[in-house]
Amino acid sequence: MNQFQYTRVTTPKAAVSAISTGNGSYFLAGGTNLIDLMKREVVVPERLIDINKLPLATIEKTATGLRIGAMAKNSAVAESELVKKYVPLLTMALNAGASAQLRNMATVGGNMMQRTRCAYFYDTAMPCNKRSPVQAGADKGQTNGPVGCGAIGGINRMHAIFGASTKCIAVHPSDMCIALAALDATVNVSGPKGDRTIPFGDFHRLPGDTPQKDNTLLPGELIMSVDIPTNKFADHSHYLKVRDRASYAFALVSVGVAVDMKRDTIQDIRLAMGGVAHKPWRLIEAEQFLRGKSATEANFKQAAMLAMNGAKGYGENDFKLTLAPNSIIDALKTATKTA
Ligand code: SF4
Repeated sequence: MNQFQYTRVTTPKAAVSAISTGNGSYFLAGGTNLIDLMKREVVVPERLIDINKLPLATIEKTATGLRIGAMAKNSAVAESELVKKYVPLLTMALNAGASAQLRNMATVGGNMMQRTRCAYFYDTAMPCNKRSPVQAGADKGQTNGPVGCGAIGGINRMHAIFGASTKCIAVHPSDMCIALAALDATVNVSGPKGDRTIPFGDFHRLPGDTPQKDNTLLPGELIMSVDIPTNKFADHSHYLKVRDRASYAFALVSVGVAVDMKRDTIQDIRLAMGGVAHKPWRLIEAEQFLRGKSATEANFKQAAMLAMNGAKGYGENDFKLTLAPNSIIDALKTATKTA
C-alpha cells in the first residue's frame, strides 16, 4: 500500500473544505471497500479525509418520511424500529447484504459509494476501463493497468444484462441501494458550491463511455443524508436475493418489491433489481402495467416479460435472462401475499 496523508475532520464544512484542497483525496468512512481497494492498489489516494466523527448518524422521522444520516451504520439502520415500521424493504435489503461484521462498520454513504466487485477491476494486471480510464482528465488516484474490458468475452457470470456499454458491463454491488431506489429516496449532499438534493435514481449512473464514474456526485461533494418519502408499502414488501451461497455473497439477481394493496388489487407498486446493471435498475414499465391490476400469476408473468425488454447476456451470464424474470415473479408472489 502506498503512503498517504491522513486528516480527521469533525464537521461537514471542514470535510468539504479538506477534500477540495487537492486531487487524490478520498473520504474515509467505514472503509470496508476503500481499504481493500487501497491494499490492491486499485485506488492509490494521496490523502484520506476521515469523516467518522461527523455528526451524521441520526435516523429520524420527519414531516415527509424518514431521514437517515449518511454516517449511520448499516446495522443501526437495519435494527432501527422506525425503519422496520415504515420501510421494511430497507431492513430486508440491508440484512441481505455483506456479513454482520461488515454491516457494523459500513455506513449508508459508504454503501452508496462502494465500487463494483468485477474481478478484473480488482486485478491491476488485467484490462479494465473502470480502473484505467483513457479519457483526458481521468481521476488521479487510479493506477494505470491495461485499458479495455476483460469481462466482455471473459469471465462475466456476475455481470450486467441491462444498460451496459461497449466499455463496461459491471454491476452495482449494493443491496441497500436497490431498496432506496425502489422507495424513491433522495440524497442530500453538500459541496464546495453549496447543498443540493439528488433523486436516488439519478445518483448512480450507467457506464457509457466513462465507466470510471459510478455516480453523479460533483468533485468535493459529501453525502449528508438520505430521505425516504412516506409510503403505504409497509405491509407488502419483499427483498429477494439470489446468490451462490446463503450469506456474504453478492447478488446474481435481486428484486426489491414494495406494494400498496387493497384486497387483491395492486394500488401502487415499486420494483427495482440488483445484480443486473451498473446502477439499481427500476422496472418502470412493469410497475405501470401492474398498477390497478389483480395480484395474479398471469399478471406477474406479463410484468416480468415487460421488465426484460432490452436485456442482453454476455455469455456466462446468459442464465440471468431466465433467472431475472423468474425472480421478479417469485418476489411479487411473496410481497402480495395477504397477512
Ligand atoms: Fe472493468 Fe467494467 Fe470491464 Fe469489469 S466490466 S473489467 S469493471 S470495464
